Amino acid sequence: MRLDFTNVEREIRARDRELDNGFSKDAQINAIRQARHYRGDRLIRVASPHKLLDPKNGPLIAVKLHILTRKSLGGIETDLSARALGADGQPIPGLYAAGEASGFGGGGMHGYRSLEGTFLGGCLFTGRTAGSAVAAAL
Ligand SMILES: Cc1cc2nc3c(=O)[nH]c(=O)nc-3n(C[C@H](O)[C@H](O)[C@H](O)COP(=O)(O)OP(=O)(O)OC[C@H]3O[C@@H](n4cnc5c(N)ncnc54)[C@H](O)[C@@H]3O)c2cc1C
Repeated sequence: MRLDFTNVEREIRARDRELDNGFSKDAQINAIRQARHYRGDRLIRVASPHKLLDPKNGPLIAVKLHILTRKSLGGIETDLSARALGADGQPIPGLYAAGEASGFGGGGMHGYRSLEGTFLGGCLFTGRTAGSAVAAAL
């Protein structure tokens, strides 16, 4: 889809204006400000909130993204032995799921609000569980 330059510029100027407004209702600006209260974000994020059109922050670049997925937020339901469960809640013989395939960083073991960086542990753990279950079943 072709972008209308005038619309893009108007949106960016409107967005930049909200940075001057300490009581802004802009949901995205507020989310960034809220995140900045968290010390971890303040320390590791490379850029503090800034105006996109301020010349000292330029030049602007355009990036075309082809997004697949960052996180699944879902997956194949399993029991504690990593056996895949069917719609009837019963294990499907010979089918196991681990890691992201079993949902959100290893079966969602850290919950829906799990922190960034906690996924590999759950993936490895469920992989080990599945491997052990397969070995025991053979
Ligand atoms: C950008 C990014 C940053 C991340 N940063 C972190 C982090 O800092 N810390 C953290 O803990 N987690 C992080 N994660 C999440 C973590 O990387 C994943 O949760 C984890 O790697 C998933 O492991 P997995 O083995 O379940 O899946 P994957 O690592 O996706 O492995 C699946 C494998 O299956 C292969 N495959 C797919 N289809 C087929 C097929 N038909 N036949 C054969 N092979 C197939 C794929 O090629 C792939 O190698 C990040 C994820 C992303 C995308």
